[in-house]
Parts: sequence; structure tokens; C-alpha cells
Amino acid sequence: MLKTSIRLDDYRAVVPEGTIELLQRLADRVRGRTLVHVNSTRIGGGVAEMLARYIPLFEELGVPSRWEVIEGNDEFFRVTKSFHNALQGAEQVISDQMLAAYLETNRTNASRLNLDGDLVIIHDPQPAALIKYAAKRSPWIWRCHIDVSHPQRWAWSFIRQFVVGYDGAIFSLPKFAQRLPIPQYLVYPSIDPLSDKNRSLEPEEVDAVLHRLGIPRDKPILLQVSRFDRFKDPTGVINAYRIVKKYDDCRLILAGGSATDDPEGEQVLAEVREAARGDSDIHVLVLPPTAHYEINALQHAATIIIQKSTREGFGLTVAEGMWKGKPVIGGFVGGLPQQILYDVGDRIATITLNRPERLNAWTDVLEQELREAMKSATDDGDVRVIVLTGAGRGFCAGGDITGFGDVVPEDVKEIAHDVLRHRILLTYEAEAENITTEQVVDRVLERVEVP
Ligand code: UDP
Repeated sequence: MLKTSIRLDDYRAVVPEGTIELLQRLADRVRGRTLVHVNSTRIGGGVAEMLARYIPLFEELGVPSRWEVIEGNDEFFRVTKSFHNALQGAEQVISDQMLAAYLETNRTNASRLNLDGDLVIIHDPQPAALIKYAAKRSPWIWRCHIDVSHPQRWAWSFIRQFVVGYDGAIFSLPKFAQRLPIPQYLVYPSIDPLSDKNRSLEPEEVDAVLHRLGIPRDKPILLQVSRFDRFKDPTGVINAYRIVKKYDDCRLILAGGSATDDPEGEQVLAEVREAARGDSDIHVLVLPPTAHYEINALQHAATIIIQKSTREGFGLTVAEGMWKGKPVIGGFVGGLPQQILYDVGDRIATITLNRPERLNAWTDVLEQELREAMKSATDDGDVRVIVLTGAGRGFCAGGDITGFGDVVPEDVKEIAHDVLRHRILLTYEAEAENITTEQVVDRVLERVEVP
């Protein structure tokens, strides 16, 4: 079990009222059942970042959780990186021999790993084929953290043959999903606001870290934190910085490390160093994957945070930047545009529902962001008027539970409808009737029938 000094109760400061109680009541239903997560690296990248925080929280909720990591040689990770690239649409060549190496590694891991549990969650394509070789005694779920909506067809066909053997699939956004004959679920990725990566820091702490990393505080700082990966477009960030620099003197920090399952990092880092050569205002920092505190300090120190990805999963770094109150500029890909636009000028705050491609249909994330934007506007003494508007053709098309289209069974859609309707109604009822958190939780559980 991962040790942590952060307790569930500490989150009361940062989550909406009733959330902890709801989690505890839901956990009552599965207390004592074991959850097994399998991914391909314990350090580096968003999945490891999330799992490191999930496991202790589930343990505290009384749901024993284990984190297993698939082991492979260099060839295996070269193949899975090529899969990753091809599934996100890049052209790749993979030989039969490489496919055989992928299968063989999954086969040996199926007997090496302890996959006994009441629910097994397999993350991403690297361990997806475990299901072919393991003795499957409980439900298995495939959780996909990347955008597989426009893959190289051969790559998706290959992975799909394993995916259809699962009992369900989880995607980060409806638009990432693929047509599958198994139930699909949506879980938004998340950051931990209390972790070393995101907790608030004193200005002296920030100063000390920047001093230690050799970064002067004399100019505004542009920052991108990312693995050195072509889809994160680090050299594109350097080009963008050069344009900015013509108008405003600034520094650029590209902070990244490597993940043990990403063999291309060294090569991309060399390209970045070459592009940055001769400019002492560009700082290329190679940090160990445990440098959460340092990344936190850099994000605190940044004037603008950039995530110029050309393909992206969800992009946890964007949420990390926004959590620290920083302006974030991101590529219009993956989870990056899933954000409310918020702008204040002339004492008018303009809040824009920003899902024009879905007629701004309502989602949990949208609701949360809207509440936050409303709160910022209300708390801002300078704001006299709040304009609430929608990007594109319409204002808001209602609740978006149709993201998975026809692949979602009718009964699941109904439950989703119920949850959505009751959640929204309950929030207003609770406020209007001034009822307690416990009563709100009881109402949610009473009204939502879970089969
Ligand atoms: N990260 C880090 N050190 C690095 C580069 C990235 O700690 O050198 C973290 C970053 O702060 C974020 C995660 O790794 O929490 C990256 O997640 P994201 O979803 O942005 O991208 P991924 O690497 O999963 O494609």
C-alpha cells in the first residue's frame, strides 16, 4: 500500500459539501472487495500520477487496492510507444516480430503479476493483452487514457481484439471513444489538489526552488511541463516563445522528465536542446519523475503556462496550471479545450460555456467550472455585471449524456439521466430548503436505482 499523510477528511476544504459523505456511503456497498490496477510504469506521466493518489484514498475508504506494473524489455516499450503513436493517429511501421514481442511480454506478465481481485482495471494499451492469457475470474475493465478516435486502423483493429473481451471500457472524454460491443463509461482524469504537486506554496518556497534550479526571476516566465514527447510539441513551444520575445522580453522553461515506458524521450530531448542552443533565456530542465514539489514551484512561478500539444489525452498539466490560478494556453486537442472561458474587463465578467461542438451541452465538468467561474466573479469586488453566454450557435442544449451515442444501452442512459437530473435538482433543493449534507446524500441514493 502507498503511504500518505493526507487523509480523506483533509479534502473537505476543497470539495463540494457532501462529497466525502457520498463517497463513504458508496464505498459501504463495496467495502472489503479488492481492486487491482495494472499499468506500465510506476513513475512518469499522468496515469502514474493519478494512480499514486487513487490507491491510498480507496484504501482509506475500505476498498483494498493493489497497483501492479507490467514489466518489459526495451523492445516491448518501443512497440507500445509505436502503438501509442499509431492509436493517436501517427503513421508507424510495426512488424510481425514486434507484435509477437508485445504478445509474449503480456503472456509472461499474466503469470508473473497477481491479478486476483474483485475488479481488475487495466490502463492503456501496453497491458491490454493480459486478458488473453490471464485466468479471468472477475470483471475486467479497460481504461483508456488516450484519444483513440482517429487511429491508424490496423493499430486499433489489433488492440480492439483484446478490448472486446473486457466487461467494460472507460474513456476520458466521449469524443475519444470507439464503437465497441461492451459498455463504455466516462471518467474524467483528475489532479490531487492536496498533493506536493498542487498544494499551495509560500513565495519564499517558490523563490528557493527557482534559485536552486538556476532560474533568475527578472522576466516573465512561460512554462511547459511535459514529458519530452513529440505530441507535446516542445520545439513548437520554442517557436512560439521566439514570436513572443519579439514583443515582450521573457524566459521559457521546458520542464520534463522521462517515463520508464517512453523510449523516445532521449531523442526528443536532444532535438529540444538543439533548438534551444545559444539562447540563455530558454531553460531545458530534466527533472526526476519524483520532482513534484519542484514542478509545483515552477507552475507557481510561471506567468503563463503552455500546453502546446498536437495530440493529447486529457492533459493534467492544464488542470494543474488552472488550479494555481494561472492563465493557460493550450492546443485545441484532447481534453485541453474542455474548459470554461472566463474574462473580466470594464467591470464586466464574461463567462462562456465553451463546448460549441456540442451546443454547450451540460456535463459535470462544465457545471463545476461554471460554479467556479461564478464564484470568482462574485468574489471579485471590481465585477459589477456577470454575462453568461455560450460559444457558437446555441447557449446550452441541456444535459449531455448522449456522448456515447448508440453504443450505450438504454437502461444505462436512463440512469445517467437520473443522476444528472437529480444531482442538479438536489443542489438547488439543498440550497433552497437548507437541508443537511446527510439528507442530500440520502436523497441521491434513494432516487438513483443502481442495478
Ligand atoms: N510531469 C512531471 N514531471 C515531468 C513531466 C510531467 O511530474 O517532468 C507530470 C505533470 O505534472 C502531470 C503528468 O506528469 O501531472 C503528465 O500528465 P498529462 O496528462 O499532462 O500528460 P501525459 O504525460 O500523461 O501524456
